[in-house]
Amino acid sequence: MSEAPSKALPIRQTRSRAKPGGMDVSKVLGTQTIPYRDRKPEWFKVPAPGSPKYRELNETIKANNLNTVCQEAACPNIGECWERGTATFMILGDTCTRRCGFCHVMTGTPTWNDPLEPARVARSIALMELRHAVVTSVDRDDLPDYGSRIWAATINQIRRQSPSTKIETLTPDFRGEEMPLATVIDAGPDVFNHNVEVVPRLYQVARRGSTFERSCRVLRNAKAMAGDTLSTKSGLMVGLGETFAEVVDTMKYLREVDVQILTVGQYLRPTENHLPVVRYWHPDEFDELAEIGMNELGFDHVAAGPLVRSSYHADEHIEQDQPGVGPMAIAAPAG
Ligand code: SF4
Repeated sequence: MSEAPSKALPIRQTRSRAKPGGMDVSKVLGTQTIPYRDRKPEWFKVPAPGSPKYRELNETIKANNLNTVCQEAACPNIGECWERGTATFMILGDTCTRRCGFCHVMTGTPTWNDPLEPARVARSIALMELRHAVVTSVDRDDLPDYGSRIWAATINQIRRQSPSTKIETLTPDFRGEEMPLATVIDAGPDVFNHNVEVVPRLYQVARRGSTFERSCRVLRNAKAMAGDTLSTKSGLMVGLGETFAEVVDTMKYLREVDVQILTVGQYLRPTENHLPVVRYWHPDEFDELAEIGMNELGFDHVAAGPLVRSSYHADEHIEQDQPGVGPMAIAAPAG
């Protein structure tokens, strides 16, 4: 008797992000990309993480069962930031419902269900005595409110447990809907950050499922809802073949929707399965962008450099009430 054919088990395969939707990215990025294993320019050299402070922070994060974008995104600044006592907390789980071509965060169907996460994030921020905390999340297009109630609960918990900490929220676009955005804004963050990430022409390869116009609308609505009580912020990556003029035009669009703070950094390819780097921008070019942003376009603050990420030294991007330097300054003696 022949055996009935067994039902094949579903195999979960991570589709390559270097070819989003199976497209030929060379049509947008060109064919002159930098091979994955090529040596990076010397300005990317950073000390290896592992200091006592780094280990202490690692323990706190593990003990509280938290996620950080520093780890999930394989951020090159982790040694410096964690030594400085800063980390960017990632709420709503570790699995994102979108799959941007540059991003290292896991993608798939989230199983997260942790209503106590806001309290644990807030407790860690209070224990770390942060004067400025950055919170981000994965995209949760699977939830009816896109995760906005957990966002608001996290802000409220931080206010309760660490009242003098400035709160920066680096949020998804909530699909451009106003109610989830209003839920977050109503909780009263100090900085509302939403990264447009790349120039509009590159959305088709780098941010499929998102649109530049929608992200700009989110930023404009956030400012309109909160007025002067809130600073708005966005971030751009370069290195995917955009021109200098395209970056400056994108900065102009961001000013048109009232963005006050801007970060610009170099895209680094996290794995061979991500979009290739087309070009490493020179530090002088970042300086020039910062100069244009501050002196010609009127941003309140521009941080631009090869290793700048939106949360890198974020405490320095706005005026702080607490004295001292660095995110731990809340604990530093006045004067
Ligand atoms: S730049 Fe941001 S994501 Fe990177 S290590 Fe620093 S705090 Fe974490």
